[in-house]
Amino acid sequence: MLEVTRKDLVSVLKTTADLLDLLGVGDDPFRAQAFRSAARSLEAVDTEPEALVARQFVGIPKVGKAIAADLLAYAETGVFGPLEDAASLIPAGVLSLFRVRGLGPKKIRALWDAGIDSLEGLREACRDGRVAALKGFGAKSAASFLAAVEFALASQERQHLSTAAEVVGALCARLNGLDPRPSGDVRRGLDTVRVARVTVTGTPDDLTERLGGLVEDLSAVEGKPVLAGRVDGVPVEVAYAEAATRGALDLLMGGSGPYREQLRAQASARGLDLTGRGLLRGGQPLSTPTEAEVAAALGLTLRPAEYREPEHDDLWTTLPHPDELVTVASLRGMLHTHSTWSDGAASLADMARETVRLGHGYLGTGDHSRAAHYANGLSIERLLAQLKEVRELQAAGLPLVAGAEVDILDDGSLDYPDDVLEQLDYVVASVHSLFTLDAARQTERLIHAVSHPLVTILGHPTGRLLLRRPGYALDLDAVLAACEQNGTVVEINANAYRLDLDWRAALRWRDRLKFAINTDAHVPAGLADAKYGVMAARKAGLTPAQVVNTLEQSEFLAFVAAQRAGRSR
Ligand SMILES: [Zn+2]
Ligand SMILES: [Zn+2]
Repeated sequence: MLEVTRKDLVSVLKTTADLLDLLGVGDDPFRAQAFRSAARSLEAVDTEPEALVARQFVGIPKVGKAIAADLLAYAETGVFGPLEDAASLIPAGVLSLFRVRGLGPKKIRALWDAGIDSLEGLREACRDGRVAALKGFGAKSAASFLAAVEFALASQERQHLSTAAEVVGALCARLNGLDPRPSGDVRRGLDTVRVARVTVTGTPDDLTERLGGLVEDLSAVEGKPVLAGRVDGVPVEVAYAEAATRGALDLLMGGSGPYREQLRAQASARGLDLTGRGLLRGGQPLSTPTEAEVAAALGLTLRPAEYREPEHDDLWTTLPHPDELVTVASLRGMLHTHSTWSDGAASLADMARETVRLGHGYLGTGDHSRAAHYANGLSIERLLAQLKEVRELQAAGLPLVAGAEVDILDDGSLDYPDDVLEQLDYVVASVHSLFTLDAARQTERLIHAVSHPLVTILGHPTGRLLLRRPGYALDLDAVLAACEQNGTVVEINANAYRLDLDWRAALRWRDRLKFAINTDAHVPAGLADAKYGVMAARKAGLTPAQVVNTLEQSEFLAFVAAQRAGRSR
């Protein structure tokens, strides 16, 4: 059993009440109140937590049987079921708004309804006047929320890849002319990033001039050719070198820690010293403008940036050359997307047009099914009506493929009957409920779902939300083995809050599975998230042949037909 404090108990109850208030669960308005009353009661009661657990919370006012059972499970496992269930219904970005001082469920709901669903989005909206214009906010509170959201962003230890990549992009734009290059975790496509790093050819004076007004608290890092600071709360480092020694800088700034150590060891074995100021012999830099020249001087083959994590150590020489890996341009189908039919913000036609504008081939619809009532999931009647619209838009020349993101129900069955699923061009099956099942039951549930003859793709397989919650308890390898056995495609959800399947698992399973890189976009701009999924897929060494949405529309439909036919045998 874990050591729970009274503060923990009160906090999970209050947080659950907040989330229920935020969700505005229509069928039972008193549920949030029940958790809040229980929290107050526990705050007031004069008994130690161990004693409360020992007596199973019996006799504590306002703590009913159901809440008592959930609290006992929490004391046992650290997981409070009602909290996890509520959190699973709320996008991670919206949850992160609770970290902004002064924001409670009501205000967060108003922001969410206005399409503001992340810390970064809130900061933007405070700046451009949207928050001030919202009912119940005003200019004064927008200013105080701006300060609070900047603090919340600054206090994050790691950032989502999308956040850091945007900062790196802004730095590179400012450093135009100094040959700026993304470096560090962003360059390697890691799912979360500690510091946004860029390298340039130039001097500290060149940098200071250009970075003014963008980087706060800019200062030199002692002993290193690096200036550090923050952009919008994100820690940044800009490293500089002369052109002749740039290779050493790029390699050191672009390595993982362990990879850097390997390189340094190799250098010293050869009587050299690998530093940010160059590859030195007797204190003098050798001319090594590129990473490849440094590697050659060390007697090594240059390791591609994608393959520089410890997980690649024994593998990378057997993995495809970076030129052969999947790219955003190689993605033809944008599968698993949402529209105004469920909880998306744009019409099917607008989503399809944006898909084409971005250079992709076709849009696969993937709105929520009826169990996802919180997300305006489609009844069978509405699904069939949507299907009719898809066929009409197809006839009008829009490249659409009809699908659905179907909830996996408690027992692993699907949320629509087979005769309905059969009418769809493809089916994504996802878990959106019962996050707290034990590993054995969750595994069984998912294996049941991926073995269904009409499931094309398993959506966000682990349910993790980066920097917010781990995935559900699960024997992932057993589920992936069932996907292999049934020819079920596994999603790499490209949303930077998910990046689920994790690239490490995709790397382990790369030769045995087919993958789909799906944005799960709820707005047209979300389709551009494909790049983050591609970064993860490249770390897993995936080529276009292993990713089904690199197929053209007709090929993809043929793939699904063959998948279904193969199972009915
Ligand atoms: Zn989903
Ligand atoms: Zn989705």
